[in-house]
Amino acid sequence: MSARPTLKEKIAERLDAIADPASGEGLMRAGRVTGLEARDDGAVSFTIEAPADDVQRYVPLRDRAEAEARAVAGVKSVIAVLTAHEAKPPKAGGIASVTQVIAVASAKGGVGKSTVAVNLACAFASLGLRVGLLDLDVYGPSAPTLLGIAGRKPTPGPDKTIQPIDAFGLKTMSIGYLVDPSSPMIWRGAMATSAVRQMIDDVVWGDLDVLLLDLPPGTGDVQLTLLQRVPLAGAVIVSTPQEMALADVRRGLAMFEKTRAPILGIIENMAYFESPDGARSYIFGAGGARRTAAQAGAPFLGEIPIDVALRESCDAGAPLVATKPAHPISKRFGEIAEAARGNIARLNKPAPVIKVV
Ligand code: ADP
Repeated sequence: MSARPTLKEKIAERLDAIADPASGEGLMRAGRVTGLEARDDGAVSFTIEAPADDVQRYVPLRDRAEAEARAVAGVKSVIAVLTAHEAKPPKAGGIASVTQVIAVASAKGGVGKSTVAVNLACAFASLGLRVGLLDLDVYGPSAPTLLGIAGRKPTPGPDKTIQPIDAFGLKTMSIGYLVDPSSPMIWRGAMATSAVRQMIDDVVWGDLDVLLLDLPPGTGDVQLTLLQRVPLAGAVIVSTPQEMALADVRRGLAMFEKTRAPILGIIENMAYFESPDGARSYIFGAGGARRTAAQAGAPFLGEIPIDVALRESCDAGAPLVATKPAHPISKRFGEIAEAARGNIARLNKPAPVIKVV
């Protein structure tokens, strides 16, 4: 035989019959009622925790809860207190609220991968997206230089979290922010792995539409291990036009095949040099990356020429796309960002549901 409900249980049942406006669940089930007490002499008290941004809606609800509790047999007096309760707990570190993570890779160093990553990030931001940039090049981080924030340190938050550094509308993090640039970068094995884990899991990335990962150059185990930590919405490969670089692109494609990340496309950097009279010199050969992309069945996202203004903006720590949005190269990056965004949507579509009739 089950015991008869206590006074407290009877009140809880009455309160749970009232729907919480925010969740539609009963007040008890929704966790709105705290500190419910019912004394033997019939004195009842409890607190209703309303969402901080919606307290007004809970004022009549408090009255109703008080009346419901008073109507329970045996209850003599009711004190129901309404409090404002922070709707969201303090944001923890990690990428749980990042919609899409995109890796920017290159087979070799010096092809302009970081230059492309930073300017592509700015181009995504100018499309109105909330963008983060994580410089994972543990061996030669370039974000501090490219963004002009060398020497600034990220602020530590509670629970070992780290605040990213805001620069040019981006949330950014780099191993270069955490380590003294004059100290030798001997980030090997476990050290590099733990630094990378920290930059992914402990940084308060918050709500982002896109997080770009600037990978260390190469297509080996180091990169693969990094990529296995995060679910990718896609990968971008940066290459120069030489035949040598093309063999490398193929290796890059093979690497991403292992991670099952869709290839959003290949960007050909240093594609040509345009002299002031408009003549183009194809210093490293013409159209190689476009051909490779076609052969590999991967999308081609566009070409970035060799450009003095682009190089100068890198050295000045002021990304061209953010500081000179009308520059033809900035517009190129805008087109590439649009194309990449289109491919993200196209390649991440859920598989069609086949209905058997
Ligand atoms: P990676 O990340 O591949 O090692 P970086 O982005 O650091 O390469 O670029 C290497 C150098 O080349 C930098 O000095 C950068 O300013 C320069 N650079 C990159 N792309 C271009 C370009 N399209 N035109 C002129 N200079 C460029």
